[in-house]
Amino acid sequence: MKITKECTKCKSHEIVKIPGNKNIAEGRIMLNMWGTKVLLLDKFVCMNCGYYERYAAIDKNARKWLNHIADKNKSENNFDEFV
Ligand SMILES: [Zn+2]
Repeated sequence: MKITKECTKCKSHEIVKIPGNKNIAEGRIMLNMWGTKVLLLDKFVCMNCGYYERYAAIDKNARKWLNHIADKNKSENNFDEFV
């Protein structure tokens, strides 16, 4: 829905973006307990049927943090390749 701007359920184009918010639990993913590494979760809501999707906002810092986690996943071999 973020890319296509079309609801995947009802095909409506009335999609509204609700930007992520680091002060709201469901508007973020905290990558550490100090809150210094926070991914913001943007929501895209269909105004026709109410379906919504969430996407992490990937900026320069987010990419750096996620690359670090990806490397850790590889070294610990704890990522399920069938997910
Ligand atoms: Zn819809």
